[in-house]
Amino acid sequence: MAALASWLDARAHGGRWIVRLEDVDTPRCVPGADHLILRQLAACGLVSDEPVVWQSQRGVLYQQALDRLIASGQAYPCGCSRKDIEAALQAQGLQRERHHAAVYPGTCRPENGGLQGKSPRAWRFAVPPEPALVNWTDLRLGPKTQNVATEVGDFILKRADGLWAYQLAVVVDDAAQGISHVVRGEDLADNTPRQILLQQALGLPTPRYRHTPLVLGMNGEKLSKQNGAQALDLADPVSTLNRAAARLSLPAAAGGVADVLQRWTASWPHGD
Ligand SMILES: [Zn+2]
Repeated sequence: MAALASWLDARAHGGRWIVRLEDVDTPRCVPGADHLILRQLAACGLVSDEPVVWQSQRGVLYQQALDRLIASGQAYPCGCSRKDIEAALQAQGLQRERHHAAVYPGTCRPENGGLQGKSPRAWRFAVPPEPALVNWTDLRLGPKTQNVATEVGDFILKRADGLWAYQLAVVVDDAAQGISHVVRGEDLADNTPRQILLQQALGLPTPRYRHTPLVLGMNGEKLSKQNGAQALDLADPVSTLNRAAARLSLPAAAGGVADVLQRWTASWPHGD
C-alpha cells in the first residue's frame, strides 16, 4: 500500500518513482523475496522509473557516511553488550524502555570515558543536545515532535554483527537518490526524527514525509515484507490495487491496471 501511495504521489506531482529494496538486514531477508516483490509491483503496474537499488550492495556509501560522522565526533564506538546496558541503566536507577529496547545510557560516549578497555562492537550516533526536540510535519499525520536524546538515546549506526542500521542506510540513500518525498508505512514514522538528526549531521537535505496507514492481516497483525508479499494475488492485480486503494480512502475503480491507476492519480491530493 505504501508502494501504491508513493506511486500515486509521484505521478500526481509529475515526479519520478523509485524502488529501493531495503535489505540491509540480510539474515532476515528471504532469498528471492526481492524479485517476488518486484514482480508483484510490476503486475500492479508499479514499475520503478530508475534502476532498482539494493541496500545490501551499498555498504561503501554507508561506510563513507560513518567515516564522516566519526571524523566530526558525531559517532563513537560502543563495546556494551545488552547485559552491560541493562546493568548501567539499573545502576542509574533508570528503567527506560522503548519498543522493548533499552534507551542506551551513553556509557561509551567519549566524555564518559569511552570504551574503558572494552573492545568496540557497534558504532553509535552521538545524539546532539541541540535541538532537544526534533519537530517535523508529516503530510498525513500533521505536526510531530520527539526528544531523541531521552526517548531513543544514542542509536546504532553499524551493528556488532557488521550490518548497517536502517537509519543510516535510508538517510544516505535518500540523499544519493535525490528523494524529495518519502511515502512509507506509519510504523516507520517514529524513525523520522532520528533520520532528520542524521541528515543534519551529514549536511543532507530533509525530504517531505507522508506516512500511510498499515495493511493489517486477517489476525490484525501487521503484514511483514515476507508474508505480505505472498499474500498478494498476482492473478488479479486490480483487486489487489482496489484493496490498497480502499485503505487510502480512494474510490473503488474498475477496468485494467492502467485505467485504475490513472483514475486514482487524478483523485490524489495534488497539494504539498
Ligand atoms: Zn557502550
